[in-house]
Amino acid sequence: MKIICVGRNYRDHVKEMNNPLPERPVFFMKPDSSLLINNSPFFMPDFSNEIHHEIEIVLRICKLGKKIAPEFASRYYDRLTAGIDFTARDLQRKCISEGNPWEISKGFDQSAATGLFVDIASIKDPAAVNFELDINGTVVQKGNTQNMIFSFDEIISYVSRFVTLKTGDLIFTGTPSGVGPVKIGDHLRCSVEGQVLLEFNIK
Ligand code: MG
Repeated sequence: MKIICVGRNYRDHVKEMNNPLPERPVFFMKPDSSLLINNSPFFMPDFSNEIHHEIEIVLRICKLGKKIAPEFASRYYDRLTAGIDFTARDLQRKCISEGNPWEISKGFDQSAATGLFVDIASIKDPAAVNFELDINGTVVQKGNTQNMIFSFDEIISYVSRFVTLKTGDLIFTGTPSGVGPVKIGDHLRCSVEGQVLLEFNIK
């Protein structure tokens, strides 16, 4: 399976990072070895002094597809959860400034935390999903998928022009504003429509 991540998909986050608004989805991939599941702890890596949290809604692909038209895209994902796209911001800045790929800042082990998947059918409005991240009891990021620049269907359609989607692939759909560092001892709790789907510690 592969993990596809969309960057710069919420205006407020694009603004906080001083990036231009994208004209089409920007995506990158993480390897399967980056998955962190079952609420297992995240261990701070030794190669960064600035690991940021990015809460995102994560879609699970449920059938093989390529060149999917936007109007049929919703047939290709059936479940979603909350995830954290961990980012070594210091390394990412360096990669970007040197014009290099940013895999080491985004694709490292445990950088793709994902929670319990729920059926899309159980979400009251899949086009306006509320989600939030609280750290040690304080809400630090709060989003609603209606504020995405590119919708789930537009993302699926765009990505599948280049990359065949397969059952079990995951798509991180972008983070709202409020990204920031995590530290040892933090407790992260991610909820979707009020339901806690992912909860774990930073060690
Ligand atoms: Mg992200």
